[in-house]
Amino acid sequence: MENDNIIDFYPSEKGIAWVVPESKDKVRIGIAGLKEPHTYFDRFCTTILGNDYKEKLIAKQAGPIPLYNPHIKTQIKNTYIIGDAATMVKATTLGGIMQSHIAAQCLSTSITERKNYERAWRKRLGKDLWMHLMMRKAMDKFKADDYNRLIRMFKKEKNRRILEEHDRDFPTRFAMKLLFNEPGLMYFSKFLV
Ligand SMILES: Cc1cc2nc3c(=O)[nH]c(=O)nc-3n(C[C@H](O)[C@H](O)[C@H](O)COP(=O)(O)OP(=O)(O)OC[C@H]3O[C@@H](n4cnc5c(N)ncnc54)[C@H](O)[C@@H]3O)c2cc1C
Repeated sequence: MENDNIIDFYPSEKGIAWVVPESKDKVRIGIAGLKEPHTYFDRFCTTILGNDYKEKLIAKQAGPIPLYNPHIKTQIKNTYIIGDAATMVKATTLGGIMQSHIAAQCLSTSITERKNYERAWRKRLGKDLWMHLMMRKAMDKFKADDYNRLIRMFKKEKNRRILEEHDRDFPTRFAMKLLFNEPGLMYFSKFLV
């Protein structure tokens, strides 16, 4: 697909979809959704590429993506789980690479220094993974208007700056600042009930 070298991201009631340029005429198109992902993918590709999209596909891959489970047990005696297997994935974006790396550091020092792995990774990642999960739970109830409202808020320079200046992997570090800056965000708290 011809493209202008810009990543497009489409949040919707069905899940999230993206178009990521790989070269001038090649892109990676993806979707992640909870229900009937094949139908969602089919519709999304038809919208983006047209009815004959299957003829334009170079390769297709699919796989399960875990959602963070705060109650998961990640250690039994000398057996540990980490990364996707331990659901260490940001439920907002479904990314987990940095989280897996941080947990790997925790595991390594826990083994060499005989410390508690479960406690170590939860201390570094637990609160933020939980906050991503809450945001996902809220967004899963959004209608198109709610997404438009959210996007309008983050088009404002003062809000965008906060997102640009902070590491979005760790929302607990700037959530309060954002809320003071944009009290309109409280509108979305109703989706957490
Ligand atoms: C489409 C997509 C896009 C993503 N984009 C991003 C992104 O932009 N940023 C981000 O941070 N995260 C992203 N993620 C998530 C990220 O890829 C995962 O969170 C991360 O790869 C998890 O690492 P992991 O080592 O736990 O698992 P994996 O990367 O899945 O590694 C597990 C490995 O174990 C192997 N394996 C499985 N079973 C066995 C077995 N029985 N014996 C031996 N080997 C086995 C598998 O083949 C695999 O190589 C994306 C995920 C998907 C699906």
